[in-house]
Amino acid sequence: MLKEKTAIITGGTRGIGYAIAQLFLKNGAKVAVFGSRQETVDNALAKLNEENSAYEVMGLCPDLTDYNAVEAAFAQVKNKFGAIDILVNNAGISAREPIEAYAPDAFKNIMDLNVTAVFNGCKAAVPYMKEQGAGSIINTSSMVSKTGQVSGVGYPTSKFAVNGLTVSLSRELGKYNIRVNAVAPGVTRTDMVAALPAEMVAKVAAGIPMGRVGEPEEVANAFLFLASDMSSYVSGTVLNVDGATIN
Ligand code: NAD
Repeated sequence: MLKEKTAIITGGTRGIGYAIAQLFLKNGAKVAVFGSRQETVDNALAKLNEENSAYEVMGLCPDLTDYNAVEAAFAQVKNKFGAIDILVNNAGISAREPIEAYAPDAFKNIMDLNVTAVFNGCKAAVPYMKEQGAGSIINTSSMVSKTGQVSGVGYPTSKFAVNGLTVSLSRELGKYNIRVNAVAPGVTRTDMVAALPAEMVAKVAAGIPMGRVGEPEEVANAFLFLASDMSSYVSGTVLNVDGATIN
């Protein structure tokens, strides 16, 4: 589904981002995985190459909160792969402190990575996509971007902003055939969830209408749809992948 396409995936070294990288590679894309540290990037590349040594994959770790670093990294991808057709802004962090315990710096950090880095990625990708006459940008949002959450105000605030950025940019860039969408996962079995005691996961699952948490591969399928030409007239949407947790 992605033959001849080049994708950048931020936060692609583990969890949902890694599942997206695997699926995009399987579907014929060239993939640049961005991570926070060289070591985790190298590990991810080694695992992907072990899966299939013919995969065309590269890895970088620019500071996503620094626009100049992001711009330079995108130029490296363009030099190596010749195009930037798909951008997945997936890197993200969360925190759950109540407001009284929430450090102002922690709020700033979460907004820097979850929102400013998404802006930086979009801004760096647009010139390439405009020149190519097409592009697909997909941002990782969250179900809490529609509901908020009881504690940890920074994370849902950042994901509400991701939805706003997604919808606004889709309107701005539609005329260039650049599509901008988001995926809003529910509770997904990444390292964080896998580390929880089984009873706790069972309790969370019981509150989900489909009775289970999602798998990263199931979330990745939504990204494949939005990255591919199957969704050629889909832009400005936030797609829930959450077992009917929210509507
Ligand atoms: P994860 O912690 O397993 O992976 C996060 C990724 O982001 C890693 O690849 C990490 O290297 C990268 N990252 C973290 N800090 C970074 C930084 N400062 N610079 C560059 N990269 C950085 O998380 P995940 O669960 O796979 O989450 C991926 C995305 O999905 C996030 O945006 C998260 O908010 C969102 N999400 C996750 C869930 C869930 O239940 N797992 C639910 C809804 C939304």
